[in-house]
Amino acid sequence: MRLSQFFIQTLREAPAEAEIASHVMMMRAGMIRKVAAGVYSYMPLGLRVVRKVENIVRKCMNDAGAVELLMPSMVPAELWQESGRWQHYGKELLRIKDRHGREFCYGPTHEEVITDIVRNTIKSYKQMPVNLYQIQTKFRDEVRPRFGLMRGREFIMKDAYSFDVNDEGAQVSYEKMRVAYNNIFKECGLRYKMVEADSGAIGGNFSHEFMVLAQTGEDAVISCNSCDYAANMEKAIATRSTPPTGGRDQGRGDKYEEVLTPKAHTVEEVATFLNVDVKSIIKTIIVCVDDEKYAAILVRGDHEANLVKLKNYLGAQTVEMAAPDMIFKVTGSPVGFSGPVGLNLPIYADLALEGIDGAVVGGNKKDLHLINVKAGRDYTPTVYGDFRNAIVGDICPKCGGTYEIARGIEVGHIFKLGTKYSEAMGAKYLDVNGKQQIITMGCYGIGVGRTAAAAVEQNHDEAGIAWPLPIAPFEVVVVPLNTNEPEVVSLAESIYQRLIEAGVDVIIDDRNERAGVKLADADLIGYPLRVAVGKKSIAEGLIEITTRKTRETISVNKDNAAKSVIEILKGL
Ligand code: ATP
Ligand code: MG
Repeated sequence: MRLSQFFIQTLREAPAEAEIASHVMMMRAGMIRKVAAGVYSYMPLGLRVVRKVENIVRKCMNDAGAVELLMPSMVPAELWQESGRWQHYGKELLRIKDRHGREFCYGPTHEEVITDIVRNTIKSYKQMPVNLYQIQTKFRDEVRPRFGLMRGREFIMKDAYSFDVNDEGAQVSYEKMRVAYNNIFKECGLRYKMVEADSGAIGGNFSHEFMVLAQTGEDAVISCNSCDYAANMEKAIATRSTPPTGGRDQGRGDKYEEVLTPKAHTVEEVATFLNVDVKSIIKTIIVCVDDEKYAAILVRGDHEANLVKLKNYLGAQTVEMAAPDMIFKVTGSPVGFSGPVGLNLPIYADLALEGIDGAVVGGNKKDLHLINVKAGRDYTPTVYGDFRNAIVGDICPKCGGTYEIARGIEVGHIFKLGTKYSEAMGAKYLDVNGKQQIITMGCYGIGVGRTAAAAVEQNHDEAGIAWPLPIAPFEVVVVPLNTNEPEVVSLAESIYQRLIEAGVDVIIDDRNERAGVKLADADLIGYPLRVAVGKKSIAEGLIEITTRKTRETISVNKDNAAKSVIEILKGL
């Protein structure tokens, strides 16, 4: 490929709204162009990256026995009404009407369409297991589309769905995807972690997320420093942790005391005001369960409540923070002063609170706190359990090691669905005994564009992108530094030809530009290897090969240039 004929334009500046490296650099390198918020064109260079990711995904999915098909983006409302999601999916679902007023949506995911296909195709146990996937444009009207390809409203996803006769079968299908996903992200050349994620009503370890590690990641990745346990924040088990600290008076005496705490709103302010450790403060979070009941979660002052854990404990559909007016209604005080004493709600206390005597709690009255509070004497938790987020230093439940927390970008998610859709939509089959049974499903997604963006987050420096070799737009760029020197041009051309003949994915920067412009563009675009040919190459017979990632340059004899490039590529 010749850069002079390729459609590219690099920019000095990225638009002000681009906040993170991948967005800035993909814009500056001319890989993507914004059309509307969360809607992008993939320019030729960016598309090459996307296609390379897709090809790795496709290969690994095929190797795992999955079969590719392609479903429409435009999906009739009736299918979504059957699953119940037409009502429940909310505003992320992009809905449209055709000229006859019939309702459709642009698919954000395709459980309904695939289940419809399968219920009309699969009749017998003999037709399973089967895993069907597609690589397709998805639509989600995200509240906050941002970070370029990271969170778009229109984006490319690989989605796969498995169909099995029973739970055991579904677990085998799940396991295959787990292996395939590990292969995919390894083959893309990314540093990633597979983490346990919340599997909601299904329970068990049947939801894993694949996180590309990068500082700008939106998600916390909790992992043990001495074993392979890793989980996301919703799921990571928080053990009892450190022994309780206890408050000032250790709960002595037979009653708590009231203190006025004007102007102290946050836990830190209350701690400072009362001169106590934040660990002896108990935070009370009022939550709404299934949109109707109210409850309180108690956590230590330095901990955060985990609503998903309570949801799973209760087997509820939803657990959300209560609105301020409801907090007032159920506690009698404004936000910030809720407390367990005298509270007429179920109280779910985190394990780390067990044994804390003499704690500080909210007094359910404006500007009032209670000190020297003792559980059992002043209030009684409904139950103690794991209702908080894990933190650095928590003890690993698997091996006793300690937790570390890193940032990650969720690029893939595998999930056992069970019979949620097959039951709602009547996807059944006849078993060996001719008895009708419900199909068990799994679903497996990968954000293709997000994977490309995550690769940039993980692999860049101040000069630009440093693509991992397997997903680089081109593996090698040959740069004739002086386009007005015929000898330089012809040497560069001959190296370029030899690389093409050897099957290397190479581009030559034959634009009539200054050397500085070409080198800066090469750094920005992030080709893994750069071969520079200049006057020195003619005079001394040496050309320079630079590895983008390490910025190491070696000089090799011009006659060995192609051979050396191929050798270095093998080692990348
Ligand atoms: P998130 O929590 O980031 O919104 P999600 O849980 O909604 O993700 P899934 O429904 O599991 O995501 O979708 C599968 C994959 O599609 C995700 O792992 C992610 O890589 C990708 N993805 C999801 N939403 C977007 C988006 N708005 N833009 C780009 N990729 C996305
Ligand atoms: Mg989402």
